[in-house]
Amino acid sequence: MDKIIVTGGAGFIGSHFVRRLLAADDVAEVTVLDSLTYAGHKENLEDALLSPKLSFVRGNIIDQELVDELVQRHDAIVHFAAESHVDRSFFEAATFLTTNVLGTHTLLDAARRHGIQKFVHVSTDEVYGPLPTGSASEQSPLKATVPYAASKACSDLLALSAFRTDGLPVCVTRSSNNYGPGQHPEKIIPLFVTRLLKGLSVTVHGSGQHVRNWLHVEDNCRAIELVLRRGIPGEIYNVGGGTDLTSAELTGRLLRIFDADWSAVTYVPDRKSNDIRYSMDWSKIADDLGYGPSWSLDAGLAQTVEWYREHPERWAPVIRDVEAPLAEINVAPGAEG
Ligand code: NAD
Repeated sequence: MDKIIVTGGAGFIGSHFVRRLLAADDVAEVTVLDSLTYAGHKENLEDALLSPKLSFVRGNIIDQELVDELVQRHDAIVHFAAESHVDRSFFEAATFLTTNVLGTHTLLDAARRHGIQKFVHVSTDEVYGPLPTGSASEQSPLKATVPYAASKACSDLLALSAFRTDGLPVCVTRSSNNYGPGQHPEKIIPLFVTRLLKGLSVTVHGSGQHVRNWLHVEDNCRAIELVLRRGIPGEIYNVGGGTDLTSAELTGRLLRIFDADWSAVTYVPDRKSNDIRYSMDWSKIADDLGYGPSWSLDAGLAQTVEWYREHPERWAPVIRDVEAPLAEINVAPGAEG
């Protein structure tokens, strides 16, 4: 397994994963396939682009001819490419279905025809829907409530069906909310951090009591690499282990880092649909593959804030690009994917 395609490798998680693969001695070639939507930036790959092991292909995962050409000369696929912003999915569901469902199908179909050795489909805990109590295991029913999560649930089922019907060696990972350097500022942590850096207020939706598990992106990438190398085909692996916080608690943590008080916070009406709590049991990947998170939330948030403080050139132009379209469709930014 020395030639690997990473779809969505110019996005947030994908770019961290690419750097991780490039550091592995037994990986000879990494090809990023990314269409560079508003969420993808070659700058996310930074110096990785200088590596002779890395090739960058700008293209769409629904382009069957291009996908075929790439897949036939690689051994494995790690599939991150997706539309990932929940709020956008309320207004642009067709784009989500095209990329997340049809795009996944196009990759699976090529993988099947060209005998790919491993296909890791990267998914989300949001497919389990809200859990007021308890935690979802990999066997829990899929009860997605928003178009983004529904499209991911559909792609998960397609990926698993490729294993059952054709024996394609597919694994699915489902992680909680990622954070870390380089995340698009439409997502809540970078949105709040960049606003606080500019001395602006931040907004909390609804009651501020929505619970999410915050996982450092490098912990998720380590888990995905374990699944790529040792995951059993046909299996799903939940990836959690971050810290559970309500959105009000998360806001409080960020305010503390900036030495700001609650006068910097405005409460706004909740978004169209906002699941009250996600929670996963991730003991399977811990027991079977030896995964465990290494980042504490305090250390991870401090590192993340520092990154945004040191790299205004990376987020200031992006904020200008996203605020206008979001204002036009009248949604509040900040929802997670
Ligand atoms: P992101 O939005 O930062 O990156 C997505 C990347 O995919 C971008 O580079 C974009 O240009 C590319 N892309 C989009 N449509 C494409 C297409 N049709 N063809 C080729 N490339 C395309 O997303 P992310 O936060 O890095 O998430 C990566 C994956 O992880 C997604 O599948 C997402 O569902 C999943 N996930 C994310 C989180 C999270 O907290 N961010 C949590 C769980 C799961």
